[in-house]
Amino acid sequence: MDDKIKEKQLEILKKRVRNIPDFPIPGIQFKDVTTLFDTGESLKMLSKVLVDEYRNKGITKVVGIESRGFIMGPIMALELNAGFVPIRKPGKLPADVFEEEYEKEYGIDKIQIHKDSLSPDDIVLIHDDLLATGGTMFAAYNMIKKMGVRKIYVNFIIELAELEGRKLFPENVDLTALIAFDL
Ligand code: AMP
Repeated sequence: MDDKIKEKQLEILKKRVRNIPDFPIPGIQFKDVTTLFDTGESLKMLSKVLVDEYRNKGITKVVGIESRGFIMGPIMALELNAGFVPIRKPGKLPADVFEEEYEKEYGIDKIQIHKDSLSPDDIVLIHDDLLATGGTMFAAYNMIKKMGVRKIYVNFIIELAELEGRKLFPENVDLTALIAFDL
């Protein structure tokens, strides 16, 4: 895609993200991505710019993080001729799982993935809607790294740049966010 067209489309999409102050608790500026999905034109534009980055990377699996990573994740997988694999909260996946713990603001959380969902030949794109502190995605990245795949790409629609979540990741990790907000 032409860089100028892409820039213009990203501007349009950024304006469409709805900010909800004090949700779910006071002090949080919640970035509502549902307003990017609610017309065919917007959904198509978003999927095009998301996928554009990864067309020639040989991605074989898109991994989506529950639950907002389950919206664009499968759309990207379809566009890239890749499979889709879910990462879920504990107790949801029925077959044998690997799991990874990570610290949240209040206490410890856990994510899981099916043990047989990825193979050493896979080139993986992990997708979630938003990078805040980075804890969730970093746990997903570490879990998949331990499974031993060929390469891991990391992708978000939105990044809250001031929280510096990307600093959690080693510098050589290919991490892309389409739209940056200060907070
Ligand atoms: P984190 O692990 O801190 O990077 O948090 C990322 C997860 O929390 C993502 O799956 C987001 O959906 C959600 N999240 C965190 N902060 C926000 C926010 N300000 N607006 C919308 N979603 C958020």
